[in-house]
Formats: sequence, C-alpha cells, structure tokens
Amino acid sequence: MKVLIVGGGGREHAIAWKLAQSSKVDKLYCAPGNAGIAEVAECIPVRAEDIDGICSFAAENKIDLTVIGPEVPLSLGIVDALAERGLAAFGPNRKCAQLEGSKAFTKAFLARHSIPTAGYREFSDLEELKKAVGIFGYPMVIKADGLAAGKGVVIAEDRETALNAIEQIMGDKVFGSAGDKVVVEEYLTGIEASVLCFVDRKTIVPMESAQDYKRIFDGDQGPNTGGMGTYSPSLIFDEKLEAQIRERILEPTLKGFQEDGLDFKGVLFIGLMITEEGPKVIEFNNRFGDPETQSVLPRMKSDLLDIMVAVTEDRLSEQTILWSDQKAVCVVMASGGYPGDYERAKEIKGLDSVDKDVLVFHSGTKRRSSSSVILTDGGRVLGVTALGSSHEEARQRAYCNVERISFEGAQYRNDIGRLNKR
Ligand code: ATP
Repeated sequence: MKVLIVGGGGREHAIAWKLAQSSKVDKLYCAPGNAGIAEVAECIPVRAEDIDGICSFAAENKIDLTVIGPEVPLSLGIVDALAERGLAAFGPNRKCAQLEGSKAFTKAFLARHSIPTAGYREFSDLEELKKAVGIFGYPMVIKADGLAAGKGVVIAEDRETALNAIEQIMGDKVFGSAGDKVVVEEYLTGIEASVLCFVDRKTIVPMESAQDYKRIFDGDQGPNTGGMGTYSPSLIFDEKLEAQIRERILEPTLKGFQEDGLDFKGVLFIGLMITEEGPKVIEFNNRFGDPETQSVLPRMKSDLLDIMVAVTEDRLSEQTILWSDQKAVCVVMASGGYPGDYERAKEIKGLDSVDKDVLVFHSGTKRRSSSSVILTDGGRVLGVTALGSSHEEARQRAYCNVERISFEGAQYRNDIGRLNKR
C-alpha cells in the first residue's frame, strides 16, 4: 500500500516510524515531514493545511491511505475533500472534527448524551458574557470556542483577570474568529488524565494509557506548553476507574455518535478530570496526542496499518490490539525560551551517539541544505523515548540518552516519569 502522512511533528514521526514497520506498506510519504521523518518516509513540500495540494498529491500518486496527524487540516475538512476524490483517509470528517474545533459543540454533545462534564454556559455576545463573570464562582474557566493552539483557555482566579481575558478573547479577538463564541465552565478539581481511543462507526477501543507533563519547568511550574514529556502506562488508571470510564464515557460517546449521525473514524483523544465524583470529560481532541503518541506507539505490538485500515472500513471490532508489557518514557527537548520566543537553526549534535534501541522522534527539525547537519526548527525539537522493564529503567535510559544530545539553549524537564514526585 502507498500511505501518506499529513503533518510534520513528533507525533507524525512516531506514526511514520510505526507504519514503516508494516510489511504491507510499500511506500510512505509525509507532507511536509521533518528531518527525522525523512529517515523513514519521502517528505514532500506540501503544508499540512494545504488541502488542495494534499488531495492533488494523493490523487496523482494513487495513495491508498492518507493519515492525518494535526487538528487544523481535519477542521478544514481534509477527509471530506479526499473522500470526494474517492480517496481513503484515517481521521474524522469535518462534521466530527467540530468535537475539537468547537468547545460549544462538544459541550452540547456531552450534555445531550448525559456524559459527565463540567457545567457550562455558552456566549456569543460580549456584554452578556461580561454580566456573567463569576457565575460559577472562582476560579472562572473561560474558553475561546474555536481552535487556538492550546492557548484559548484561561483559568481566572479573580474578577479582574476574568474581565481582561474576556475582553481579549471576544473583544480584541486575539484568537481571531475562535473567540466569536466563548464557553464558561464550572471549575473542576482532581487529577488530569487522558485516554486515546480508536473509533469507527461500531466500536470504540481505548489504547494503553499515557500521562503527560504540560508545564515547562520541573514540578509542574511555569507556563503551559504543547507537552514536555509523557510516560506510559499511566499509573492513575486501575480496574475500577477503567470500568467507570468505559461505562460512563466511552460507551455513551459511541452511542451519541451513532444517534447524532456523527460518522467518526480515527483517534478520539479524551481529556479527563478524575474528580471525587468520578471521571469527567474536559475536552475531546480528534487525533493522536503529541507527545502521548511518542510513548504509546512504541509499546504497540500490532500492525498499526491493519488497525487504521480496519477503522476506515468499520472493521475495528475484528482487530485485537496487542501491547508490550514494557514501560515507556518520552522526554521532550525544547528550544531555549520556549513556550515564549525562541531562536531556530541551532545545530543539533550527538544524535549519532544515542543507543540503537532508543527512539529520537523529531518535532521541529530540518536538514541544512545539501549537508547532513540537522538544525532546530521549532519550539519543541525532539522527543527521546526509551523503553524499560520498569518506569524507572525507562526513565533512566531516556535521560542518559538526552544528555548525549545538545544544541544551543536546549531545555528539558528533569522529572518526566519520576513517579513519586507527581
Ligand atoms: P489543549 O488542547 O492544549 O489541552 P485546549 O485549548 O483544548 O487545550 P482544554 O483542554 O479544554 O483546552 O483546557 C486546557 C486545560 O485547562 C486543561 O488541560 C485543564 O488543565 C484546564 N481546564 C479546562 N477546563 C477545566 C475545568 N472545567 N476545570 C478545571 N480545569 C480546567
């Protein structure tokens, strides 16, 4: 089969690495890819958001399956555009992509199907919203409705901060039309966890769990990032919690999709808050998480292509997904200054000195033209994943290899997978 992966981050590198192991994949392309992905796939210079460009490439090259990594092309309707040309894709269509693309859409879905989540109100008028400041008390959870690259949520501790945030999101439109609507939610307390699931029209199957680290500094300090590391499996899940998640969230979500005519095919990422009353949904994402994927896929023993094809053909129920007992830890190395401003084009050294069985997934990298030198090209640069028979062994192996890689200004957390510190 000819497979095209859309995207160019660490998640897509992990997907490409895994798909490249399938004996059924004859040719792997990635648009646009990065320097690491280029080791396992042919990278083509088409942006992930260039829907026409991707559709044309897939049609001209007779691609059998296009796998969509990031959320933006999904929200732009890439799956529908490919389907119009008779091309198969792994990922939800535009209608389903609203589950990530609109928080108001998701909250209404959750409420309609009695799936546990925080109480909420939705606003499209700035004055109405201002009057509602503090309706659920403080902290006040304020969310821009649309996609805002993970930055559209403000947890305001007091009235002044809340009013400022509202003014910026809906008045100044700092996130553009993503702020045309705002969702205000009840504040939930508990432990955050996420579940990645494969979904087709008939079946929802959770993958092995992973725990992520969102803040830039050790001890969960500093500003939020796209994710500074993960470990898998998460230790938060036990049989009781898994049963609650299955009965209260996964099963009603699939039933809700069926009742609402949402033909979801792909990966549903469910962000949860484990509260005293049990698990509640914070958010849905339409795709593999980054960097969760970098610690989950290395533990998958099954052929990912088989699963993806089964999803597109509604045959997921026929698949048995096998996982390794090994534990995984992924440490993200980021550019100095991230998640604020950072410089690019720093030479990355030491990639050759990494142990053969340690995986270095590239996020923001590129190759210096006509040379073998790899340069930084983004905020998050690399994800170093190691496996081990225990979390501690995986953690030590990951850090031992991280220390062999260097680039000017490199920063990473030291406490990824250090379980007693969480
Ligand atoms: P991302 O995609 O980066 O996770 P997002 O913009 O889609 O972010 P959410 O996941 O809805 O936004 O919220 C971001 C974070 O805000 C959550 O991970 C959680 O820490 C916090 N949060 C969101 N909703 C609530 C809530 N109701 N109560 C408490 N904390 C919340």
